[in-house]
Amino acid sequence: MPQEWEQLLGVQWPSNACDRSGECCRGAAQAAPWENLLKNAAEGDLTARAFLSQFIPYATLEEANQNAPHAVQASTEIAIARNINPQDLIFYHCRYLQGKSDCQVYEDRPALCRDFPESPFGAIPACCGYYPVAQSCLSSIETLKQELASLKDKQNALNSTDSTKF
Ligand code: SF4
Ligand code: SF4
Repeated sequence: MPQEWEQLLGVQWPSNACDRSGECCRGAAQAAPWENLLKNAAEGDLTARAFLSQFIPYATLEEANQNAPHAVQASTEIAIARNINPQDLIFYHCRYLQGKSDCQVYEDRPALCRDFPESPFGAIPACCGYYPVAQSCLSSIETLKQELASLKDKQNALNSTDSTKF
């Protein structure tokens, strides 16, 4: 079933865009420190538990960059856009990945993987098959914002003209 943003923008993810490169599997990011995730998981946070049961943190950013440069770049850009310090990002790789791109549980992979990318606003690596559609969505959103701003200006101009009449 199409999601709300898909209907609004008149787009749909292509059904066969994933070439199973494994870039997203090698470069998942969290802004919360690993210890915080552990604490949350221990306190019963199911999202943190699910994430930690699947992903293993890289020892260093350099290691993450070597394994998933496009994913690291995408998350870094999103962090900056959301006023999050990119230095706070922790990168992870999936324990079910064998080699660079062979998912050991592909037919039964978690919902997080089946639903990736959830929206065009997330960290989508530039090498990903979904990237061009996501960029096109973001560009449509920018156009809609500009049209909305222009309509607001016109509305304000009309309102100020009206207020001069009696
Ligand atoms: S980065 Fe994109 S193309 Fe590569 S495995 Fe992930 S979803 Fe598929
Ligand atoms: S479960 Fe498979 S598809 Fe999902 S992140 Fe791990 S290796 Fe990738």
